[in-house]
Amino acid sequence: MGRKFFVGGNWKCNGTADQVDKIVKILNEGQVPSPDVVEVVVSPPYVFLPVVKSQLRPEFHVAAQNCWVKKGGAFTGEVSAEMLVNLGIPWVILGHSERRSLLGESSEFVGDKVAYALSQGLKVIACVGETLEQRESGSTMDVVSGQTKAIAERIKDWTNVVIAYEPVWAIGTGKVATPAQAQDVHAFLRDWLKTNVSPEVAESTRIIYGGSVTAANSKELAGQLDVDGFLVGGASLKPEFIDIISSAT
Ligand code: PGA
Repeated sequence: MGRKFFVGGNWKCNGTADQVDKIVKILNEGQVPSPDVVEVVVSPPYVFLPVVKSQLRPEFHVAAQNCWVKKGGAFTGEVSAEMLVNLGIPWVILGHSERRSLLGESSEFVGDKVAYALSQGLKVIACVGETLEQRESGSTMDVVSGQTKAIAERIKDWTNVVIAYEPVWAIGTGKVATPAQAQDVHAFLRDWLKTNVSPEVAESTRIIYGGSVTAANSKELAGQLDVDGFLVGGASLKPEFIDIISSAT
């Protein structure tokens, strides 16, 4: 079976109740390919998750942007995987570069989070990606394989994992990776999974690209052999997100 195209919308720390209503309206009214062709998951801030989930068209799903590394308890300010499951939130984004860099989340910590979230029944969008400095020093493949290894060492079943390759230099900068740059890293990651996990996991795991994806560049990126979809930040708050979803076909 082929890998179903996957488009995630990462709203980050954006939105008021009114703006959320508007975005949901755009999503609900948009003409998009059938859910057999593309899986769509949007990720509002925690506080808007229940309302977005209840108002969103049923074939679109929601994701949290983070969750705690283990069972809930005395961890002020955190939200546990159990709580997300309890509210019927199916997905969580983990290891986003903003959390890795601004909040100091290490690859090991992200790996632990992925393992725990999966153990509770969540599906995970696991983010990896190199900084500009790492790219320029030629260590891109070492960085992304190291981040992926920290996950692979902690999980057995990859069924509910989507890997998001998001070069840090492309996030929110308007400087999108070229289709060739994206394809190179995606192919490398798939090969890494083949060698280090299994050929089946390599074949079936979706590897999506994130970083300055827009309606203007999504079609060409989507045409790359190993690009199985997108994780979209800024453009997921705009009507063009519908066009990005439509680049699945
Ligand atoms: P961007 O963000 O599309 O605004 O570059 C992508 C992301 O951080 O997931």
